[in-house]
Amino acid sequence: MANKKIGFIGLGIMGKPMSKNLLKAGYDVTVFDIVQAAVDEVVAAGAKAASSPKDVAAQTDIIITMLPNSPHVKKAVLGEGGVIEGAKPGALVADMSSIAPLAAKEVAAKLAEKGVRMLDAPVSGGEPKAIDGTLSIMVGGAQADFDEALPIFKCVGASAVLCGDVGAGNVTKLANQIVVALNIAAVSEAFTLATKVGVDPALVFDAIKGGLAGSTVMNAKGSMMLDRNIKPGFRINLHIKDMANVLETAHDVGVPLPLSAGVMEIMQALKVDDLGDADHSAIVRYYEKLAKVEVARK
Ligand code: NAD
Repeated sequence: MANKKIGFIGLGIMGKPMSKNLLKAGYDVTVFDIVQAAVDEVVAAGAKAASSPKDVAAQTDIIITMLPNSPHVKKAVLGEGGVIEGAKPGALVADMSSIAPLAAKEVAAKLAEKGVRMLDAPVSGGEPKAIDGTLSIMVGGAQADFDEALPIFKCVGASAVLCGDVGAGNVTKLANQIVVALNIAAVSEAFTLATKVGVDPALVFDAIKGGLAGSTVMNAKGSMMLDRNIKPGFRINLHIKDMANVLETAHDVGVPLPLSAGVMEIMQALKVDDLGDADHSAIVRYYEKLAKVEVARK
């Protein structure tokens, strides 16, 4: 399988370590990003540079995209000089960005007209797991295409689950983002209450983390809150993008999501307070403002 040529488009916080892990696994990787410095860094690690997404697709069999949101994926795949212009019939596109499920279906339908297959395969785990190659990958598409991409997914992830047809990967990612956002808000409320009453939130964390309230989110983001560390990680602006996709998708199919809408407004308020580029654990700062306390280890 390592004889398959891989294209990688989008070398940001996630794409850079993911493409480097594919190089480490012995794959021939051709890359493109609109930021030259990002390309240079991955080329220094052994990749080949291409001049456009079209050029990437012309030289490779499987093209991975790791871009911010739906418009970026549409531009890089379907736009002028895009993947669709260079891809060989039978090529496979794996879009690992988190985008709207409907956009994933639209891109897949256009690619199918040219005989190009697509999986939507967003990830969870953030930069640390992208570096370790232990991301969780949630996939939508055909079983045969999933089977073909699985050895590649295994180089960047610890798990890959086929959740349904194209679009199902991003529906699963939206579900993930709801649970993460609401969990961070719940931990923020709990720590703010404990602080205001005069109980050390670090001791609250130690006491409850092994019980029913404990979670991966509490371990990762609760610790950041106690350290007053808001360095991303996962930016509030990116979570706002995901929650916009959550609410749009839910309203389209007639599902009201009152708690997701509430956390979205909290994140919008933090953006107005210039915290859009802070880690999403900065949700606790919203509660601190309401309660006039500072959450920290004592
Ligand atoms: P990022 O902003 O760091 O990287 C995106 C990269 O895409 C940048 O290098 C940018 O220059 C490039 N780009 C934009 N438009 C392009 C185009 N038309 N052609 C080529 N390159 C283009 O974002 P990221 O944090 O790496 O996130 C990527 C995706 O993964 C997003 O959808 C995000 O929601 C998702 N995600 C991120 C995390 C995280 O913790 N950062 C975790 C899980 C999922």
